[in-house]
Amino acid sequence: MYLKSDQEIELMRASALLVSKTLATVGQEIRPGVSTKYLDKIGETFIRDNGAVPSFLNFCGYPASLCISVNETVVHGIPDEKIIIKEGDIVSVDCGVILNGWHGDSAYTFACGEVSPEVQHLLDVTRQSLELGIEKAVAGNRVGDIGYAIQSYCEAEGLGVVRDLVGHGIGRDMHEEPEIPNYGRRGTGHLLKEGMVICIEPMINMGTYRVTISEKDGWTVKTADHLPSAHFEKQLAVRKNHADVLTSYDEINKILKKQ
Ligand code: MG
Ligand code: MG
Repeated sequence: MYLKSDQEIELMRASALLVSKTLATVGQEIRPGVSTKYLDKIGETFIRDNGAVPSFLNFCGYPASLCISVNETVVHGIPDEKIIIKEGDIVSVDCGVILNGWHGDSAYTFACGEVSPEVQHLLDVTRQSLELGIEKAVAGNRVGDIGYAIQSYCEAEGLGVVRDLVGHGIGRDMHEEPEIPNYGRRGTGHLLKEGMVICIEPMINMGTYRVTISEKDGWTVKTADHLPSAHFEKQLAVRKNHADVLTSYDEINKILKKQ
């Protein structure tokens, strides 16, 4: 596993911040009547205008720049002009870029207008579980400490923790060692070392943790019971006594306040 220098971490911070700004730019456009294809175009244009390349495009044949996953779609929703956002939907936007050779990767689940209290609970718990996972991402802990923090909290709140997809290391490649599951046992798994850069990305379901993958497109992951799912992802560098979070939701919080 490749540990990043301070200088490399600063380059990755720039990549992660561009992803953060892209998410805010796309989030600003989420309203009833727009298609996920339109949102993808907004994201791709913003990424390219800022001198970067959308890393998802053509990754293992993926046909778009963003993954946009509505309601019961967990992740890897392919933007489509026929998928139209409506009031009360939740819209998970996952974005990756390559800037100066370094990858950024983060996600945020937006609410379109008013959502039900159950859906708001799903969003709040998933977002909070990411923060609980991040707290454990310090040198000397193990990957299982992160997963345990996320899983125990979400399950106590009555939610399902997706097992089939996990977080990951990141650097010059989008997916590097180690895998970062959102479940696990304390004190087990890879040792976290200073200079590791990882993405923690809880995918949390309102009902069962079980998911299905579309046979039609080979990408779209949905909940097996068709209940909604949320996804938040941040990129961070492991340090001695804290997690140095490279992703920022500040821009997103600003645009959401204005709405
Ligand atoms: Mg990721
Ligand atoms: Mg991602």
